[in-house]
Amino acid sequence: MRSMDHPSKTAPKCPFQKRYPSQLIRDDAFYMTLAYNEAIDAWTANEVPIGAIVECDGEIVGKGHNQVEFSKDPTAHAEMIAVTQAARAISDWRLNNATLYVTKEPCPMCSGAVIMSRLKRVVFAVPDPKMGGLGGAFNVNGYPGMNHTCEIESGVFQEECRELLQSFFRLKRERNNRTI
Ligand SMILES: [Zn+2]
Repeated sequence: MRSMDHPSKTAPKCPFQKRYPSQLIRDDAFYMTLAYNEAIDAWTANEVPIGAIVECDGEIVGKGHNQVEFSKDPTAHAEMIAVTQAARAISDWRLNNATLYVTKEPCPMCSGAVIMSRLKRVVFAVPDPKMGGLGGAFNVNGYPGMNHTCEIESGVFQEECRELLQSFFRLKRERNNRTI
């Protein structure tokens, strides 16, 4: 059934399900799966489906999904929300022991936040050759003069996270074309 709302106000139905990984093996795939679930929450709220998790000493201390449209805030990216939450949770802005998991390579703003929060590690799923700030388009990490570098890994859960992003834009385009 077609919604009566304006097409841009409601999300296309998400064809993907959240996943429930075993709690016993807390590896990169485990945390990225939780970031993927956050991205599905973003889709449901009609936001670009990107999700993030911050893990510290085996615990999840921050999580978030993109909320730019809802909050009308260009800084409300998944990573910014998760990092802010993590710093609050551990009562320290230095996240030296923490890892950020995010479904897409951080943009320039979020890559800056990665360095400023002194994150130990970043694991992202989908590289972004257009806007990625951790090696995709350019590299904030290891920039001469910066006094912090963090470990970067990419490709974990890449196909699933890319499919989520591409499907979101495809379905929105198709629906907008139908209603013109
Ligand atoms: Zn960002």
